[in-house]
Amino acid sequence: MPAVLTAVLGLTLTALAPAAQASPAAPAPPTVAAAFTAAAEEYDVPRDLLVAVGYGESRLDGHDGQPSQARGYGVMHLVDNPRQQTLREASRLTGLPAATLRHDTAANIRGGAAVLRARADAAGLTGAERDRPAAWYEAVARYGGSPDDRAARFYADGVYDILVQGVTARAEDGSAVTVRPTAVEPDRGDYADAAPLVAAPDYPSALWVPASTSNYKVGRTSAITAVVVHVTQGSYAGTISWIQNPTSQVSAHYVVRSSDGQVTQMVREKDTAWHAKSGNPYSVGIEHEGWVDQPSWFTDAMYRSSAALTRSIADRYNIPKDRAHIVGHVEVPGNDHTDPGPHWDWNRYMQLVGGSTTAPPQLTFSSYATLRNGSTGAQVSAAQWLLEAQGHDVGQVDGQFGSGTAAAVRAFQTAKGLSADSTVGPKTWTALLSAGARPALKQGSTGEAVQRVQRALTAALGRTVAADGIFGSGTAQAVRDYQSTRGLDPDSEVGPLTWGALQAGR
Ligand SMILES: [Zn+2]
Repeated sequence: MPAVLTAVLGLTLTALAPAAQASPAAPAPPTVAAAFTAAAEEYDVPRDLLVAVGYGESRLDGHDGQPSQARGYGVMHLVDNPRQQTLREASRLTGLPAATLRHDTAANIRGGAAVLRARADAAGLTGAERDRPAAWYEAVARYGGSPDDRAARFYADGVYDILVQGVTARAEDGSAVTVRPTAVEPDRGDYADAAPLVAAPDYPSALWVPASTSNYKVGRTSAITAVVVHVTQGSYAGTISWIQNPTSQVSAHYVVRSSDGQVTQMVREKDTAWHAKSGNPYSVGIEHEGWVDQPSWFTDAMYRSSAALTRSIADRYNIPKDRAHIVGHVEVPGNDHTDPGPHWDWNRYMQLVGGSTTAPPQLTFSSYATLRNGSTGAQVSAAQWLLEAQGHDVGQVDGQFGSGTAAAVRAFQTAKGLSADSTVGPKTWTALLSAGARPALKQGSTGEAVQRVQRALTAALGRTVAADGIFGSGTAQAVRDYQSTRGLDPDSEVGPLTWGALQAGR
């Protein structure tokens, strides 16, 4: 869900003290590795446990003080949101200003250690117990900050899994941070019975942890025609907790864990989750644990597990397995988010989904030129891609209108009852651009089907209809104009007759 880089950077550039600048003998800041050791000693937290908490939260990258989706900061994810104020708490415990804790990784680790120790004290751990990592389970679960026991257990189990697996990481400053794998059987205490054993209602291999009812809308206004891929900008457990937080006003149907691909469903597919603005009514949203700028989160396990989920959704709703229908948040019209970002491997993902890996070329133009043998350019690529999507082999989508494309055009025209002249004029464009599923559309509808209608109307009417996927008054007027010039009832809605006319190239 990341918003375009939120600008907190400028605020916290605590100026280098002039004295430090002047003196070449100023001590170098501690490495991340050394900061863990020092903070663990200062607050009597097991060093490996402290690293595991940090690794689970951030893979040891502080993201230059950029906040997570839940407004947590740094390697230890010190949080400043309406539900959780560990940043403030760390500031009080360490005496360090919040700005320093957000930005300075050694300070952030110290702050995280102080908060963890406070949780251990609250749980009544004695000095002897503090030496045993297994005894820290409840303290770790509460550090995660979720008031929901299932999400808290997800969080703590994740940390103990890291201890069992061990850590071999390079921190952001290049220092090596390692934890040797250790067999720890945590004392789960109050959380022993908190596992979400219930299978998810729509996808039984997922777990079910419901979102706060304040963060989604029951029911849908559109048919499901797309899957939207997101990256969380935060940890798995933190995202689940955030979606349970009634103040967050965000949700997704599914969240997928980086380490092993575990899937949690949070919103029923029949309901509208809040993850992609204009895309919400017609899509299923899948959040992937990670950060857009940090490829280490995008594991093979996560790709495989998410692709299996997307394949199931596509099969159940007859969604074409292509990049026009399985899209990134960044590709949904009217969104300012960048996820899943440049490190998300779409080719690999679409291969695992079992669909077409090629992204569609530009399909939206302000007008559609007549194309024939010998034509070249972006509109030829668009026509070729649309022909391929309709099952007519053009050879290659290369922007060159040759004999292969001409044959495909002829076959398409014959199938649609158009005169087979091998030329892509207004009628053939209208039929090509509107081809696909025919959901009932009216003012207020959004999505890919609306965009198809808008592009087809641009070709049919010979004037630009903005193809933003939002059925507003301009689209309604264009539909009415189309209907009244084609002998259809001008009701401004796209029902079976209007779809039929558009797809026949009328
Ligand atoms: Zn997103």
